[in-house]
Amino acid sequence: MNKTSKVAVTSRSFSKHPVLREELLARYENVTFNDEGLKLVGEQLVDFLRGHDKAITALEKIDDNIFALLPELKVISKYGVGVDMIDIDALRRNNIRFGWKGGVNKRSVSEMTIACAISLLRHFSEANQEVRNGVWRQHIGHQLSNQVVGIIGFGHIGKDLGMLLSAFGTKVLAYDILNFPEYYEQYNITPVSLEELLKISDIVTLHVPLDDSTRNILSKDKLNLMKTSALLINHARGGLVDELELKLMLKEGRLAGAAFDVFSNEPPDDLELLNIPNFFVTPHIGGSAEEGILAMGRAAIDGLEDNSIPM
Ligand code: NAD
Repeated sequence: MNKTSKVAVTSRSFSKHPVLREELLARYENVTFNDEGLKLVGEQLVDFLRGHDKAITALEKIDDNIFALLPELKVISKYGVGVDMIDIDALRRNNIRFGWKGGVNKRSVSEMTIACAISLLRHFSEANQEVRNGVWRQHIGHQLSNQVVGIIGFGHIGKDLGMLLSAFGTKVLAYDILNFPEYYEQYNITPVSLEELLKISDIVTLHVPLDDSTRNILSKDKLNLMKTSALLINHARGGLVDELELKLMLKEGRLAGAAFDVFSNEPPDDLELLNIPNFFVTPHIGGSAEEGILAMGRAAIDGLEDNSIPM
């Protein structure tokens, strides 16, 4: 039992999870949880972290400002795999150790992507709403097995999705800055350019991190390469897609449907977009299967000890 370190847990999801709380408290005596369920930003985040040398953080913005005000903070351990909210250069500059483990919630996301793809293809959301409103009519859809699915970003989640889709017999295209020839061969996946993927795919799904190389990767011009019958899924990060153009395309029938779990501003406030019938929205729950939460939480607990100053 570590009695000297003081650990702050900003993540609301971790803080309210009884198993993760118990496992963390079995290792650390002094822990502050985000029991009030606060969305911690700015001064409130600094106040919450003050006096702690280690922190488990989730979607909070961590940068030089935090370290300037909190010289006692020495370790950040990440709950969840995305690191776009963490200024990695600032960690390096301030000699902060970083605990992070990739892939921990991949199945939670890849299953949800398949569920949303099928839901869009079969119009489940509209059909469900209609039945609730007293309308009983049969929607005609398509099978996932007969679609061409384009995966942008073939990392932990992209690979898992590619492998699961191979069981459906779906034709899978992949675009990534890295090459994975053995995996492509094993699961009969075709690597293509981004432009080719957008032009050919019936379903385009994003699984890249948000960074300078991917911000607005689906710009207005790129979105307009997609077929009007195509579907777009973003279960990765807000900021990857031109959301205004997406809205116009859905409204004008230039895109058949979309499923988004993430937005450039969360929660999203564009009610016009959110109320488009063939736009299926979820509140950033890609990694939120119980199994994913446990794996993310346990990786974050391990990261309090198993960490390094980023290269
Ligand atoms: P990963 O790092 O394993 O894979 C990312 C892949 O993207 C890598 O193969 C990388 O080479 C590729 N890539 C990076 N920049 C690229 C570029 N400019 N063009 C093409 N490919 C590029 O990450 P992962 O675990 O597969 O997760 C992907 C992203 O999904 C995470 O970064 C995170 O933001 C997001 N995510 C969201 C949720 C959610 O709750 N909705 C949950 C988990 C992950």
